[in-house]
This record gives sequence, C-alpha cells and structure tokens, in this order.
Amino acid sequence: MYRRNVLKVLLKSLILLIFGNSFVFSTPKKKLMTNEEWKQILTPEQFQILRGNGTEKPFSSNLNYEKREGEYLCIACNMKLFHSSMKYDSGTGWPSFFNCYEGNLKTRIDYKLLYPRVEYHCAGCEGHHGHLFNDGPKPTFKRYCNNGNVLKFITNI
Ligand SMILES: [Zn+2]
Repeated sequence: MYRRNVLKVLLKSLILLIFGNSFVFSTPKKKLMTNEEWKQILTPEQFQILRGNGTEKPFSSNLNYEKREGEYLCIACNMKLFHSSMKYDSGTGWPSFFNCYEGNLKTRIDYKLLYPRVEYHCAGCEGHHGHLFNDGPKPTFKRYCNNGNVLKFITNI
C-alpha cells in the first residue's frame, strides 16, 4: 500500500515536471527545433551558448561597446529582449542590462557551479542567454549578464 502511494506521488511529480515546464515556456511566438536543426542556423559558438548553456569569453562581443539607441533581440528567434535604455556598463566584459522586456525572458536555477545561480533564457526559443545577479544599478538593482554573441542589435536611428 505504501509503495503504491509513493508511486502515485512520483507519477504526479513527473506529470507536473513535464507539463509544468511546457506551461511555463508556453508563448505564442515559441520556436522549438531539434539540436540538429539549430546547428544548421547557428554558428558553433552560438550553439554552444544557446543550446549548451555556454558562456562566451569576456570582452569578445562588440555589443559591449554599443551605445546607440535600439533593440537587442535573440539571435535565434528574434524575440525582443532588451532596449538600449536598459543597458549599462558593468565593466564585466559582457553586455549588461538592469531590466528586460517583461515575459520575454524566463529564469531557472543553475547548479553548474558549486553555488546556485539564476540562469535565464529566451521565452521564444528557450535558448540560454546569461545569468541574473542582484548587483545592478538603480532602480532594479538587477544585472542581466548577457552573452553578446547571441544578441542581434537593431538600431532605431
Ligand atoms: Zn530566442
């Protein structure tokens, strides 16, 4: 009897895990493809970052120095992630933002290092973009530390 209950709980958790996640990620612009399909349209570095939770070398993206007014989109699916007014110079070597377009990024806890970090990914394609820290400037005190090589900048000017 006890075993049967344990099985029931496990089954419920599994269902929640599968359907809970698909619910969290559901968005009308969702673009999901297999890894093989992503490899066809992404460079090896972009694939490593977006699909393998990778991190580019600091100061490797020209977007670190981008100061024009415009939009920062996900390079894989064109989801609008940040506006230039949300960007600031954190000095870390990665493009940094203190805010994002609400709902266009999703977060989850990443245990890749010894301590937990908040990882975030594009709501459109689920591609990994960076990590979220609480040492940003006013008014949010947040720092979206983004891989610049998986962003596409479109200037408004
Ligand atoms: Zn995307």
